[in-house]
Amino acid sequence: MKKYFMFLPALLISAGIFAADRIKIVTSIVPLYNITAAIAGDKADIMSMVPPGSSPHTFSPKPSQLKAMADADLFIQVGLGMEFWADKIVKASDNKKLQILTITDGIKLLAGDFDEPVDKSGRRAGNPHVWLDPVITKGFSGRICDALSKLDPLNAAYYKANYKKFGAELDELDRYFSAETKKFTLKEVISFHPAWVYFEARYGLKEAGVIEAVPGREPTPRDLGIIISKIKEYGIRTIFAEPQLPRKAADVIAKEAGVNVLIIDPNGAADGDYIGFMKKNFEIIKEAMK
Ligand SMILES: [Zn+2]
Repeated sequence: MKKYFMFLPALLISAGIFAADRIKIVTSIVPLYNITAAIAGDKADIMSMVPPGSSPHTFSPKPSQLKAMADADLFIQVGLGMEFWADKIVKASDNKKLQILTITDGIKLLAGDFDEPVDKSGRRAGNPHVWLDPVITKGFSGRICDALSKLDPLNAAYYKANYKKFGAELDELDRYFSAETKKFTLKEVISFHPAWVYFEARYGLKEAGVIEAVPGREPTPRDLGIIISKIKEYGIRTIFAEPQLPRKAADVIAKEAGVNVLIIDPNGAADGDYIGFMKKNFEIIKEAMK
């Protein structure tokens, strides 16, 4: 509960209470809020559209959030159709000054068995969960730093210094993950939804299966059979569920296959700390894979 209250300033901002003289940033999801906060420090007001307790895959914006989008200078989104709800609110906000930064632009995408509601008009397709790889995060953090510096040139040196510090922390996190994952006795992962493919690719792990290929759509008996056979094939002892999605399917599999369920959270930390959020997830993954 503590974390929820630490998020309150951003939630108040989401009701439309942006301060007057600072740049105003709306991010689509909490991890982008966390990452942007690391660079913006105390020089910008940031809010996340999707609150910590919701999944971006099943979210719909509140009417009160339209005001924040109408006042914002910058909207930072993942792209690839993950924010299937965003186009409508951006359009409705009729905000002529709004700039949009899409973090997956220019990133080498992984496919992953993911079926987001992407429009058919040639938009790039791929797995959107790039923020769970600290190396990719360092790359698009540089783009966030550039965008902030352009919007607010007087504070450009401040943003750059924060980015440099954050980048060094990401490097350290990457070194830690690299070293620790090498010691894992298990390399195959059963995730709840395909959120961890970039993380797995970075650290030599393999997605053996996902419980919900489309978040919110429960697996069929056939899907369950396949997951259970993968658990047996690889000797998997722990499967993962997530706080934002109902865990029922994970419990069914766990009971059937005799494995544990642990909770990992791909959707960010309410207190604005990306590094802490990633470490917390990692300690749980480590526990499952050692
Ligand atoms: Zn997801």
